[in-house]
Amino acid sequence: MSPSVRPFAALNSPSEAPSVDEAPILHIDLDAFFASVEILDDPSLAGRPVAVGGGGDRGVVASASYEARRFGVRSAMPSVVARRLCPDLIMLPGRFDRYEAYSREFHRVVQDLTPDFEPLGLDEVFADLRSLRRLQVRPVAASVALRERITNELGLQCGVGLGRNKLFAKLASKRSKPLVVDGQLVAGPGVVWVSPALEARWLEELPVRALWGVGPATAAKLEKLGLNWVRDLARVDEATLAGHVGSAMAATLVAYSHGEDRREVVVDRRAKSLGHDQTFARSLQGLGEVVEAARSHAAVVARALRGHDRVARTISVVVRFDDLTSVSRSQTLSFGVDDEVAIAAIAEALLGSIEIHHAVRLLGIHASSFLERSQNQMQLTFGLDPASLDPREHAVLVSHDRQISHEALRDAVDEVRQRFGRAAVGTAGELRESGLDIETQRGRHAFGPETGHGGS
Ligand SMILES: [Mg+2]
Repeated sequence: MSPSVRPFAALNSPSEAPSVDEAPILHIDLDAFFASVEILDDPSLAGRPVAVGGGGDRGVVASASYEARRFGVRSAMPSVVARRLCPDLIMLPGRFDRYEAYSREFHRVVQDLTPDFEPLGLDEVFADLRSLRRLQVRPVAASVALRERITNELGLQCGVGLGRNKLFAKLASKRSKPLVVDGQLVAGPGVVWVSPALEARWLEELPVRALWGVGPATAAKLEKLGLNWVRDLARVDEATLAGHVGSAMAATLVAYSHGEDRREVVVDRRAKSLGHDQTFARSLQGLGEVVEAARSHAAVVARALRGHDRVARTISVVVRFDDLTSVSRSQTLSFGVDDEVAIAAIAEALLGSIEIHHAVRLLGIHASSFLERSQNQMQLTFGLDPASLDPREHAVLVSHDRQISHEALRDAVDEVRQRFGRAAVGTAGELRESGLDIETQRGRHAFGPETGHGGS
């Protein structure tokens, strides 16, 4: 599909107002998110070609302003290529703290519409509107209002898609966006609904590479089989297809080609932290014993994280002494961890900053500020979707990540020491002041008061 072709000419007119049952799933996606945040924070960038991503030979573009897209710059493009296309490109390194702050505001606005939403990365959300049925909410009107609030309150642009399932909602939000046609920016409709009557037509015009989860490697395989369009997938034998792309992918593709997508909107009501606390039958004497216990705690926490398919950016320790005073410390990393070596290293650095002035009755290690594993990968590689890479690129990036993680871990440990010094004394109150809420799954220890109340 050439970029100047605008598919799906058959859009519904905005005056059509589907009910919640005709448009139960909403997908909203912020436009050029990282680049837009950079421009908001530095208005002198407005109207200029801006990209966020990795510089250097192996860097890639994570996000590009529409001004940059006019030159053909797009995300996942090597930065070297982007600079060649757009010599005046302003390339910025990315500030995840700011993007997360905007992302939280974004989620807050969506939350006002419905609590039944599922964030996908920092700048996309799926919402299930069915619980709004009784409130007589009209999906298109709600979507228009959502866009207005996001523009007015966050200063960001976005597109909204509505459909019968995630597949169509996501296709629709993509279609709602502005588009560069022959170097000119064309405004998008902003809100698009795929009516059930038009679903077949949408699929008819869709290339396989536009499907969710179909990266360049899978697309190349499909095209080699002569399967260029989604309509081709509808006619293929699933077992044969499975022989080429695996049975899970084959089943998904065939279902998509018939407009079926069973994925629910998964509302995250899980605990905001995972942790392990243990009250010891015999109190621990001195830092050495505490650190040793921390290593086995770290292994428990790491297993729990992996079991939940999560990585955590914040590691906290809590120590309670025989005199029932408590001290807590936490460190938030710029990347997520899920392995016991990394968690133990951070915990050890945090423990090293605590004066062990009494025997230790309880030790807890907690992990919070979760990221999805894929999101962490993305964060480490500046917004790249691993699924969209061919396996060779992926291998380079993964080995690159390890290097970053290793160095970043060392930096994080140094930062703990700088922040807290060695054997500085603090209280659990300081932890709360630092903005970390510990909502823990407590370990099953039978005695001793709860943590978080002591002072020292
Ligand atoms: Mg986006």
